[in-house]
Amino acid sequence: MSYSKKIEYEVVPEGSCSVIRNCSGCGRKALFQNTKKFRVNANGNKLDVWLIYQCEKCRHTWNLAIYERQRMSAISAEEYQRFLQNDRELAEQYGRNFQLFRKNRAEVDTERLEYQFVKLSDTKQENGCGSQVLLTIQNPCELKIRPEKQIAGALGVSRSQVEKWKVQGSIEVKNFSTRCLTVSLNEIRLIG
Ligand SMILES: [Zn+2]
Repeated sequence: MSYSKKIEYEVVPEGSCSVIRNCSGCGRKALFQNTKKFRVNANGNKLDVWLIYQCEKCRHTWNLAIYERQRMSAISAEEYQRFLQNDRELAEQYGRNFQLFRKNRAEVDTERLEYQFVKLSDTKQENGCGSQVLLTIQNPCELKIRPEKQIAGALGVSRSQVEKWKVQGSIEVKNFSTRCLTVSLNEIRLIG
């Protein structure tokens, strides 16, 4: 299949993620929210840094480990200051670091997570012909979003429009995995 155009998007989480875990205060699973505060423990030349999460119901806290027994010299003076000052931007950044959640074996509440679609590239194919467009949506954080919703979000159209295109055969999902969605668009006029 030759395509006249290839467009690539990435799903980028916004704000920060909540964590679902057993709360000893509530005695059951609860939602823990990012307090945007760090706990820093410097001991000799070793450093521990946690991001503090709090149960939304009973305010029990849980610490997400960022650094454990880390050499002081491995951390920049600038970042260290930002930990001490509870830098909000840095706390939000760590609050959507999926690698960190995996390391802490934390279950992320992806249902309520806000995200946006960022265009990575939009290229005309030299030898392409016709009106076939290949749309790729990268999802590195593996957010659980249905393909129709991803297509609608990336193209800025309604989900019912996507459903209509599907019925008309204007859209064909080529590949769908937790990290990537590939769709062939045919005879669809794309805006922008
Ligand atoms: Zn609780």
